Amino acid sequence: MFLTEFREKLTTSFGKSMKDATDKEVFQAISLMIKDEIYRKWQHTQKSYQEGQYKQVYYLSMEFLLGRLIENNLLNVGWFDVCKEVLMESGLNTDKVFSQEHDAGLGNGGLGRLAACFLDSLASLKLPGHGVGIRYKYGLFQQKMVNGYQVELPDYWLKDEYMWETKREEEAVEVRFGGTVEVYYEEDNLRFKHVDYERVRAVPYDVPIVGYQNEVVNTLRLWSAESMNNHFHFQSPNGHDYYHYLDYKRSVEQISEFLYPDDSFYEGKILRLKQQYFLVSAGLQNIIKKHKQTHHHIKNLPNKIAIQINDTHPSLVVPELMRLLLDDEGLGWDEAWAITTSTVAYTNHTTLNEALEKWPENMIRDLFPRIYMIIEEINERFCKQIWYEHPSLRDSIAQMAIISYGTVHMAHLAMVGSFSINGVAKLHTTILKKQVMKPFYQIFPERFNNKTNGITHRRWLLNVNPELASLISSTIGNGWIQEPKKLIQLLPFANDSSFQNAIANVKQKKKEDFAAYIHGKYGIVIDTTSIFDVHIKRLHGYKRQLLNIFHILHLYQLCRENPNLPMTPRTFIFGAKAAPGYHFAKNVIKLITAAAEKINSDPASRDKIKIVFLENYNVSLAERIIPAADVSEQISTASKEASGTGNMKLMMNGALTLGTHDGANVEIKEMVGPENIFTFGLTSEEVFDYQEKGTYRARDVYNSDQRIRTVMDQLVTRFFSKDDVEFKHIYYSLLKRNDEFFVLKDFDGYVEAQQLVDQTYRQQSIWLKKSITNIAHSGKFSSDRTVSQYANEIWGIHPVTMS
Ligand SMILES: *Cc1c(COP(=O)(O)O)cnc(C)c1O
Repeated sequence: MFLTEFREKLTTSFGKSMKDATDKEVFQAISLMIKDEIYRKWQHTQKSYQEGQYKQVYYLSMEFLLGRLIENNLLNVGWFDVCKEVLMESGLNTDKVFSQEHDAGLGNGGLGRLAACFLDSLASLKLPGHGVGIRYKYGLFQQKMVNGYQVELPDYWLKDEYMWETKREEEAVEVRFGGTVEVYYEEDNLRFKHVDYERVRAVPYDVPIVGYQNEVVNTLRLWSAESMNNHFHFQSPNGHDYYHYLDYKRSVEQISEFLYPDDSFYEGKILRLKQQYFLVSAGLQNIIKKHKQTHHHIKNLPNKIAIQINDTHPSLVVPELMRLLLDDEGLGWDEAWAITTSTVAYTNHTTLNEALEKWPENMIRDLFPRIYMIIEEINERFCKQIWYEHPSLRDSIAQMAIISYGTVHMAHLAMVGSFSINGVAKLHTTILKKQVMKPFYQIFPERFNNKTNGITHRRWLLNVNPELASLISSTIGNGWIQEPKKLIQLLPFANDSSFQNAIANVKQKKKEDFAAYIHGKYGIVIDTTSIFDVHIKRLHGYKRQLLNIFHILHLYQLCRENPNLPMTPRTFIFGAKAAPGYHFAKNVIKLITAAAEKINSDPASRDKIKIVFLENYNVSLAERIIPAADVSEQISTASKEASGTGNMKLMMNGALTLGTHDGANVEIKEMVGPENIFTFGLTSEEVFDYQEKGTYRARDVYNSDQRIRTVMDQLVTRFFSKDDVEFKHIYYSLLKRNDEFFVLKDFDGYVEAQQLVDQTYRQQSIWLKKSITNIAHSGKFSSDRTVSQYANEIWGIHPVTMS
């Protein structure tokens, strides 16, 4: 059946038989078959949603890190196994075929991947919920390693046709920038007229989001910026109009040109702000238009729509919704405000100061004059509310205002304008309430809630590790696929030696697959009997790749001092992109690669330590590494990692966490118990305490710990570099700038925890028991659980029954 259709598709689309078709044609033929299957369901789902008049949620996000969809879609339509079989029997390499799909890298890291996992869970839980984002022409840059340095190349992911999108020309809307606002009276009412603005055409491209073996297909709507061809009247005979038009066209198309490559970092660029408003305005106009078609009036908006904003990036949704309700729908302020603040909900993703969005007031005023007026009014009313209703907070007004000292504070705008404010792990939410957003919590206690992040177990277990998935199913049945909490049924097998063996065999197979992959691709050889110690995530000071590499340098030192050092061979695997302008992060990458060069080839260490820095860490690479991992490095400075999701993916694949008391690590520990995780380091309270009192002295740690002195001094004595300035940036950030991320402070605890990892790994049965215990408890971290909680506790939406 599949085979027949597949042959037919190759013939009708490319005029080829299976033996003549290229891998790309095979990939495209399979994609087209999937499309035939899902577009019917898609149409039907849309119709059911409309007719059922269900409440729907729109998840607004500047990032959707989808990765590839081919395998996910095959799995969800139920063709995964048969397709693999047919390809293999036809002598085709499934891996090569599926890799024809370019990763959709429309995100930086965790925040964008979370959005993608949520979409998968929404559809699989039959929940009416959709994504709204930007169709960047270039996704996150491709990282190329040149002499151990990161070089960024543009990611032109649309170079081949993107198989999963459909352009919806007929649903284009207009987004307006710049100009001025004329204020006038009409029948005793104040009216506002926006004039002399620049017009941008927002055109949606829809990507179907397929539910797992159900009838639901939701929509990810990605907006693209185009010029209006009737924006200019070509009149001038000297060509000026034409050149003006070209300027205009270029400036418009820039808006959806590329994704900003900063993760957990605020960069105050005008173009970025334009992108944010573009997303919000196009998304909202479209939502409201559809709402009115189905429900005929606007006043019941909060009963039928919820809008979740992924961090503050889309927080202009608050004034934009106000603008549409006031100016277009003619509502009064109070009514419009009640609707807005019952529709919008906000997820906070970080407490890092450098990530807080603070736009210059005049930038907002110039780009969106009407939006600016509305923010001013919201701010004034909010400040008055504090003054009159919360006199104890009067001294905090300047600190809580939306506009102060010439800047607009987007987190304040988001909190004031939404009915729900959530953090992404218990610890993170506690920190929001007690520290970072304390005064807002005093005013709006009922708005604050926690939604611990999750990952889709369909992609991150079923798809990437079919061997483990089928072992699990043959042991406890396949109920866990629908209800991931049932993974807990594995617990009785944690001590079962034959199950332990089976788990060990799967892990070994995945390690060998991974080793073969990097050997084929990079010529790198790794020892598959060594411990695979994995540190994969964006390169950031707070994520402390530096602590990891310091420990490796220390181990290297021990190897040189003692040729008989008892240690289990270890392969340290790194994957990380640094933001292009983040010098410290790039310096850390260079340190990792420089250390790799020296340590991997030194006879004193080469049988014990191997460092591998993998180029271009992205979703597809994560999918190959994670099933092969033994150790999951989650070593952020306590309080800095809001949740983490890499920790969950690795746990679900049987890796043991080596982590700090941070983010969701805390909840992983709660689930598996302290004996099934390796934890170390400062607590968040201790970190806050040091920060408040200013009592941490990095230099004292340096002076008192010989191991640290040895490692640090090697940085500036040409041990790993040709000159002594290469790593001085790192050296000074620790000693002169007092080690903002407590790397030296946590070094001792980390070394000790690493020793315990080594010892435990040698007792394979104990290790496997811990590994199985982790898998068994990983069901809690399925995004199905997370999304159900959002649905029940924030959005008020329910699974649909399809007609
Ligand atoms: C899951 C994921 C992340 C997030 O990893 P953290 O360890 O939580 O920072 C980043 N990038 C990719 C490609 C991912 O798949």
